[in-house]
Amino acid sequence: MTAGCARARIPHASYTPGDKMAQNELHRQSPPSCGKARPDTEFTPAQELFDNVPYIIMSALGCVILLLVFGASGNSGIFAALYALYAALGALWIMVFVCPHCRFFGTRMCPCGYGRIASKLRARGDEKLFVRKFRRHIPVIVPLWFIPVAAGAYSLSRECSPLLIALVAAFALDAFAVLPLAARIYGCAHCSQKDDCPWMKTGK
Ligand code: SF4
Repeated sequence: MTAGCARARIPHASYTPGDKMAQNELHRQSPPSCGKARPDTEFTPAQELFDNVPYIIMSALGCVILLLVFGASGNSGIFAALYALYAALGALWIMVFVCPHCRFFGTRMCPCGYGRIASKLRARGDEKLFVRKFRRHIPVIVPLWFIPVAAGAYSLSRECSPLLIALVAAFALDAFAVLPLAARIYGCAHCSQKDDCPWMKTGK
């Protein structure tokens, strides 16, 4: 990890005016490596919600695809509910096992708000373990990106459905283009730990 953003190591709730001045001075002396860094940026609840929209859309589309694919079996509701539960638990998993090691844990500088929720669930972890924890735990949620596509492709191989084609295409566009692009452009582009983040490195 870079020497990076010492300001983010102080939980937001514990800031005093003196802390803020000291940390802003620290940024002036040693700005984060990102040229676009906005060290004083704290995300509002509306911005946090906006950051979560692509993930919510992906989860909703995944449920609809499973409903459609398994509609004839009578178990479609169960499969869709299990997928929705997996999406919710996946987000919780990241909050519990990755976010405690992030610099933005417990602050409003986490774009999606996970960091604030995580601070209510866990104590702060060791920031040096962030990359290792990220690499270990991200695979837990990766199947969310592939289950609806695999189910849709299997169903389409047996029977053509224009509605299902449109839903799978919309899911793929959101999951594989909009979601990563939104994270990179909107959230991660301004993150002071992006140089160490495996998510940012995957596209290089
Ligand atoms: S920036 Fe990512 S790892 Fe850091 S607190 Fe937010 S969601 Fe968690």
